[in-house]
Amino acid sequence: MAAVDRAQKPSFTKSLFLGQVASDLVMPYPVQTGDDRDETQRLAAAARDYLTTTYDPARSERDRWVGDDTIRDLGDLGLTGLFIDKKYGGQGLSQSGYCRVMEEFGRSDGTLAVVMGVHQSIGSKPLHLYGTDEQKERWLPDLAAGRKLAAFVLTEPNVGSDAYNLETRAERQSDGSWVLNGVKRWIGNGDRDVLTVFARSELGHVALIVEGGTPGIQTERFDTLGLRGNRLQKVTFTDVRVPAENLLGEPGDGFRIAMNTLNNGRMSMGTSISGGMKRFLDLSLEHTTTRRQFDRELIDFEMVEDKIAWMETQIYGLESMSYLTTGLVDRGVADYSLESAMTKVTASDTGWYALNRAFQLHGGTAYMNDHPLAKAMRDFRIFPIFEGANDVMRAFTALNGMKALSEHLPDVKDISVSNPSKAIGVLAPYVRERVGQRLRPERLEGAHSDMAKQVGQIAEQTARLRGAGEAALRRYGSKIQEKQLVQKRLADAAAGIYAQVATVSRISGVLERDGKIASEAERRVAINFCNSQARVVGRALRSLEINDDKHTRAIGKQTRADGGYRFDL
Ligand SMILES: Cc1cc2nc3c(=O)[nH]c(=O)nc-3n(C[C@H](O)[C@H](O)[C@H](O)COP(=O)(O)OP(=O)(O)OC[C@H]3O[C@@H](n4cnc5c(N)ncnc54)[C@H](O)[C@@H]3O)c2cc1C
Repeated sequence: MAAVDRAQKPSFTKSLFLGQVASDLVMPYPVQTGDDRDETQRLAAAARDYLTTTYDPARSERDRWVGDDTIRDLGDLGLTGLFIDKKYGGQGLSQSGYCRVMEEFGRSDGTLAVVMGVHQSIGSKPLHLYGTDEQKERWLPDLAAGRKLAAFVLTEPNVGSDAYNLETRAERQSDGSWVLNGVKRWIGNGDRDVLTVFARSELGHVALIVEGGTPGIQTERFDTLGLRGNRLQKVTFTDVRVPAENLLGEPGDGFRIAMNTLNNGRMSMGTSISGGMKRFLDLSLEHTTTRRQFDRELIDFEMVEDKIAWMETQIYGLESMSYLTTGLVDRGVADYSLESAMTKVTASDTGWYALNRAFQLHGGTAYMNDHPLAKAMRDFRIFPIFEGANDVMRAFTALNGMKALSEHLPDVKDISVSNPSKAIGVLAPYVRERVGQRLRPERLEGAHSDMAKQVGQIAEQTARLRGAGEAALRRYGSKIQEKQLVQKRLADAAAGIYAQVATVSRISGVLERDGKIASEAERRVAINFCNSQARVVGRALRSLEINDDKHTRAIGKQTRADGGYRFDL
């Protein structure tokens, strides 16, 4: 993919909150080319072959580990260092290439996808993004080859979503080394080899590379509902000495390194889940075309067919969104944090709903413990929770969008959502004036003419999102930070618009390349997805005005005060 000078541009989604459709960031749809495409195809095929012929997910669950033999085999196939530079023994794939191969893991087994995701997406990634040449030289070759496994060590007993407030301490010694004390929990590969540990120091947050087996590290395994082949650990650090040269970045960079790693890592969750959804669809088709009831195949019933169509459509949309986002990274767009967060939320929610539908279509069959969907139920439930709980991601998306909007207003440039109190008085008259006017809808440029109706819908919704954002700023001022029901709706609207943009961008490329007749089936799926998302956006924006929030909040407070349900029959 050609690198374009997009580094200075605001993110696509922040622009959406301003009522702008930054077409140059999303059109044409990103397509891998040259060696990157060839290598991706080769590695994806190797992964699929290995995963279907050799790897046994049931054995992983039974043994409570995916197996050292599996890691060795994946290393030999070049699948444990997919984005690591070739000079360190990796495959040097682009973000799109990496995520495409991760889709194969998700299609085969949620557990192996997580083990590989922990090792690569968040474990090796901090070194890849922030390591010096010496640090990369020292650790990446073993990680790329799968001889060693990496861990991302952030979560603590008192620190989950609120990662900034971590309690693990790193004290700098006079020789520049560090002494680490604290307890981390729920760490994948926490008992393994190369740990990026986040801690607080007098100089700010730090990220330290700690080698497994360093004196003072103790680990203890958790027993989990699903992902039973993922070795989830409590890791205790007692006076662990870490050499000066193991510091990633500078003192004070630790939190930024953690957040940027997660921003980058969330994308492979999107593609792993779309891989999983393809498997759920395959299993559902197989079952509903062979199982007969009422003298018919199940799929002959409309309510069954509807679930199959829903899955096909949602996979298409999620895939479009995921690879548009990876394409932003490959095109050199600097800020993709909101797109990555929205993709994570959409993937983990939709993946769960798809699994639920597939489960329903299987009737009692999937409830038997040895069925792959039973295992998927255990494995997939964590996705809306980890790597950024979905509601936290929604708040993150909306507040960043609102912050961009408040900074954009021309006569009140110094407003920020994090400190709007002094400026909100200035903001109010301006916003009132603007909200009163109708914003001219901005159109997605470069879409195929056969998608004109969807382009019109996107323009209309984007203008409404901008208006709703301005209205919320005017109404709530700095209190917008507490208004999570407003944030949720704005975030859902932004994600729905982004999903439609991704789908229109993708299908436009297909129509251009293959023509209308050859692309008819795909176009129908794309249109169906856009229509479903347009309804989501419409509902989200409408419910900003018409809702039961007052009652809902009163009921929440009352229930809390009552300590439970109190209406006896
Ligand atoms: C299987 C598994 C693997 C994991 N792997 C790793 C790993 O390798 N490395 C690592 O560092 N961590 C890992 N974790 C930890 C994981 O990242 C955390 O569980 C996650 O960040 C959420 O933190 P928490 O569970 O403490 O939930 P909390 O932060 O306590 O939140 C609980 C719930 O409260 C709500 N909530 C919280 N804050 C807000 C808010 N501001 N607004 C609205 N709602 C809110 C959300 O619904 C959230 O789901 C793993 C966890 C599990 C279970």
